Amino acid sequence: MEPASVSPTAQEIADLVVKRLIEGGGIKDLANANLLTIEEQTIEEVDRVTQLVIGELLVKQSQGAEPVTNCPKCGKEMTTKKPQHRSLQSRRGDVKFKTDVSHCEACRLDFFPSDENLAV
Ligand SMILES: [Zn+2]
Repeated sequence: MEPASVSPTAQEIADLVVKRLIEGGGIKDLANANLLTIEEQTIEEVDRVTQLVIGELLVKQSQGAEPVTNCPKCGKEMTTKKPQHRSLQSRRGDVKFKTDVSHCEACRLDFFPSDENLAV
């Protein structure tokens, strides 16, 4: 059970998904749609939401992580590059997010904070 104070609720999020599927054309003819069509379109739409949620959580996690200052491979000090887009494969499809990048001149390698400190 989720706390009652969390807003929007799962029901409100579900209502938004329903609205998107019907008005956004995911399910073009609801009156004649069979369960398979409804299920497939719903999973596709919810998977897109899931990818966005995971991406945003990874950004927040990356922002809260200690930056990688020394190369994990050779131990030398690294330089910080501008944040880069990163794409990871999840069970619910590709998750895209932006993250800081550290670069080791000696190894000519880039490291993401997530590789050392985070869940990915
Ligand atoms: Zn190195």
